Amino acid sequence: MPLDRHTAPNHPKWTDWRWQMQNRIHTAEALHRWINPTPEELEAIEKTKEVFRWNITPYYARLMDPDDPSGPVRRQVVPHLDELAPDIVGVVDPLEEVAHSPVKNLIHNYEDRVAFCVTAECAIYCRYCLRKRMVGDAAFFMRKGELQEAIDYIAAHDEIRDVLLTGGDPLTFNESNLEWLLSRLRAIDHVELIRFGSRMPVKLPYRITDALCNLLARYHPIWVNTHFNHPKELTDDAAAAIAKLKSAGVPVGNQTVLLRGINDDAATMKALCEGLVRMRVRPYYLYQAQVIGGTAHFRTSIEKGMGIMRALRGRTSGFAIPTYVLDTPFGKVPLNRSYVKGRCDDHVVMESYDGRLWAEPNPRPPGETTTVTLPAVDMPDTAATIPTGGDAFVPLPTVA
Ligand SMILES: *Cc1c(COP(=O)(O)O)cnc(C)c1O
Ligand code: SF4
Repeated sequence: MPLDRHTAPNHPKWTDWRWQMQNRIHTAEALHRWINPTPEELEAIEKTKEVFRWNITPYYARLMDPDDPSGPVRRQVVPHLDELAPDIVGVVDPLEEVAHSPVKNLIHNYEDRVAFCVTAECAIYCRYCLRKRMVGDAAFFMRKGELQEAIDYIAAHDEIRDVLLTGGDPLTFNESNLEWLLSRLRAIDHVELIRFGSRMPVKLPYRITDALCNLLARYHPIWVNTHFNHPKELTDDAAAAIAKLKSAGVPVGNQTVLLRGINDDAATMKALCEGLVRMRVRPYYLYQAQVIGGTAHFRTSIEKGMGIMRALRGRTSGFAIPTYVLDTPFGKVPLNRSYVKGRCDDHVVMESYDGRLWAEPNPRPPGETTTVTLPAVDMPDTAATIPTGGDAFVPLPTVA
């Protein structure tokens, strides 16, 4: 009997994370048993095959509204024809992560910390993923020898005090691989902090097992940042996963991506942040969506994001309010008026932590309303921006 949204939760292995991984939905035929896909969604599944993988865990699929193609969970994971739209600013690697990688999958951009992409595997493939260029791509999976090379690099650089394990999703690793990795990193004296960036509490909370928590507790200080985007994702199962991490002494933060039509209004963002703090999760960053090919339909204007931040301040607990940031090749820039200089047509000009100017391509979507207006500025000669055109574009298939 094939699984469907009604019968699957009764399966004896429903809460077994490996079973969830093995039974992920990645064909149109299977999707029909979970939601009523629209003809456009079915066409998008066919046409986006070459561009980006898709996969949905049965747990996350249950959170989709079967009849609403614009539902906030569904839009994050079901392919959409807009992913094929020509995108004036769509680039593969807007943060120049490849240029900042001294060894494969290790991004050393800030002096004292690194982002270490230990795997390209994920449990689901979020359609707006920052690392679409690598997530799910066989070329970015890491062999043991390659992981060891990155560890050797960290060991040889005593300025690195903070190691962020990311991907893909590092918690797709089993306990024995995690133990291998954590024991080697902990053996390096100057590595003070190890943190995970993982969406498992959101897309597959059953991954947070007692065995995993016991393992993490042996390598403290370990921090985890997860990635909830919408109040609908704050389920009892997600809360139980968070509670386990907290009991193991792991502080949990959250990084949300600001997504047009999903969470880009003050009421939704407030409900999300307040729900997170009820689960003892600290809202850490709210990310401006990056300019990645095929994701223009998810992006909002920076003014709109700043307006949401204005609406939160003073109206909820201070620690329920994240920092709104844009990641750039010069580091993360807080999107508030001390760093943001103004708008020059389709670009927003800002200053990085070390005083470099960055101009982010950020056209205002037609019809967008917001309470914030940025001053008009001229493009400074010194501002760097994402190269557009030529090889920087994602090769998108043409839509017939
Ligand atoms: C985001 C990021 C970090 C961590 O930044 P924090 O602001 O400390 O959370 C580290 N390295 C890279 C390359 C990053 O993108
Ligand atoms: S969970 Fe994170 S890394 Fe994985 S596809 Fe989603 S955004 Fe990308």
